[in-house]
Amino acid sequence: MLLTVPMGPLEANCYILSRGEGCDAAVIDPSDAGTAMQALLKFRLRPTHILLTHGHFDHIAGAGELKSLRGCAVLIHSLDAKCLSDPDECRAAWMGGELVPSEPTRLVADGETVSAAGYTFSVLHTPGHTPGGVCYVCEEQKLAFTGDTVFLEGVGRTDLPGGNMRELMRSVCDRVLALPKDFTLYPGHGDPTTVAHEREHNPLLPYRRNPWFNS
Ligand SMILES: [Zn+2]
Ligand SMILES: [Zn+2]
Repeated sequence: MLLTVPMGPLEANCYILSRGEGCDAAVIDPSDAGTAMQALLKFRLRPTHILLTHGHFDHIAGAGELKSLRGCAVLIHSLDAKCLSDPDECRAAWMGGELVPSEPTRLVADGETVSAAGYTFSVLHTPGHTPGGVCYVCEEQKLAFTGDTVFLEGVGRTDLPGGNMRELMRSVCDRVLALPKDFTLYPGHGDPTTVAHEREHNPLLPYRRNPWFNS
């Protein structure tokens, strides 16, 4: 069972994945603990893991509170980990909020495996939007949670501190779109898409094919 719960002023997608009602759940990018708890309680889900795609405030803001309420593990890439405790790093004030500081339980890195809520995820390091951006890929369900790396016919911005367009191009074109074409991509904002659809329509691909990119 996959719930999509947009949260906060920027309508960041929080995803809640579980084997069904009453089961353990993996919570991806909870920006608001109260809204996440409502969804969890409605289906009697037990959140065991919070998987963070990157450190921006609109994706992590509820992680600390949810962790202290329910004792979940909090996972984030090491390069974005300081966002959990530093309001400047996560751009809290800029996004109109106040950070409840917390510490990660586990730092994840490219190629690692995460077991949560009865699912296995592999970690794909996809920097560019932020240095420590990751996608969580679940082979069994043929899906990936892509954060702000790739959207439906779009990609994340690179003009915030730590952003890098060349890295984002590599992450999107060479890594995310190298996943099998029938995988569904669940982005940090907006509607889901598929690898096949983005291989046709993602606006970065023409740039990636341009010879200047490798020069
Ligand atoms: Zn972001
Ligand atoms: Zn975002």
